[in-house]
Amino acid sequence: MSLQGKHAFITGGGTGIGLAIARAMAAQGAAVTITGRRQEVLDAVAGDGIVGLAMDVREEQDVADKVAAAVEARGPVQICVANAGIAEGKALHKMSMEFWRNMMATNLDGAFLTIRECLTSMRQTDWGRVITIASIAGVRGLKGAPCYTASKHGLIGLTRSLSEDYLGTPFTFNAICPGYVDTPIVTRNVDSISKRAGISADAARDIMVSANRHQRLIAAEEIAAAALWLTGPGSESVNGQSIEIAGGQM
Ligand code: NDP
Repeated sequence: MSLQGKHAFITGGGTGIGLAIARAMAAQGAAVTITGRRQEVLDAVAGDGIVGLAMDVREEQDVADKVAAAVEARGPVQICVANAGIAEGKALHKMSMEFWRNMMATNLDGAFLTIRECLTSMRQTDWGRVITIASIAGVRGLKGAPCYTASKHGLIGLTRSLSEDYLGTPFTFNAICPGYVDTPIVTRNVDSISKRAGISADAARDIMVSANRHQRLIAAEEIAAAALWLTGPGSESVNGQSIEIAGGQM
C-alpha cells in the first residue's frame, strides 16, 4: 500500500502508540504531522516525513491554529488519528472535580477538537480516515478507573455517531481499543499502582501482563499495524467499529 500524497495528523505522536503509528504511516510515504505538549520530544523523533508541532489538545484555539498551520504547510489532512490521552486510576469517592475535568478535557474534548478541525480540512477532499485510539476501557468497565473508562466510552460513542453522520461519503470513522500496551503510560501506571497498593513494581506490572490472555504486554507496533490497515484498500467497508486489540482481556 502507499500513502504517498496523504497528510496524516496524529495527536500524541511523539511517544508510544502515536509514534508507532506515525512511523508506520511515514514509512508508506505519508506526510505526517505529530503533536504533543513538549516540542523537544517531538523534535527528537522528527525526520523521514515526520514533522512535530507543539499543541495542547485541551486548548480550542491552539488546536485550530496548529491544524491550520499543518494544512498550510503540507496540504489537507486526510488521515486524522486522535490518540493523545492520559490514564490514571482513582476511586470515584476520592476524585476531585479537577481530576475528572482534566481527564475529560484531554481524552474526550481533545479528540472532539482535533477531529472537528481535521474534518473541516478533510471534507474538502475526496477521501479520509478518522481513527480514534480508545481503549478496552471504552467497551468494558475497567476496575479502579471510572473516569478513564467514562472518557473512553465517550470517545467510542463519538466515533460511532460520526460514522453514521458521514455514511455514504468517502470518509470512515473507527476506534481502536487496545489492552495494555508497552508505552510510557503503562510505565507511569505501574509506578502509581505499586505506590497505591503497596506492592512492588514487578507485581504491579504482572497485574497488567496477566490481564492479557497471552501473558504479555502488547507492542505499540501491533496497534500501528491496525491503524495502517484502516487506511488501506482492504478496510474500505470497515466503519463505525471499535476494534479490540487486547489479547482477549475481559
Ligand atoms: P503515551 O503517554 O506515550 O502517549 C500519550 C501521548 O498523549 C503523549 O505523547 C502525550 O504527549 C500526549 N498528550 C497527553 N496529554 C496531552 C495534551 N493535553 N495535549 C496534547 N498531547 C497530550 O502513552 P500511549 O502511547 O500508551 O497512549 C496513547 C493513547 O493510547 C492514549 O489515548 C491512551 O489512553 C491509549 N491507550 C493506551 C493503552 C496502553 O496500555 N498504553 C491502552 C489503551 C489505550 P505530551 O505529554 O508531550 O503532551
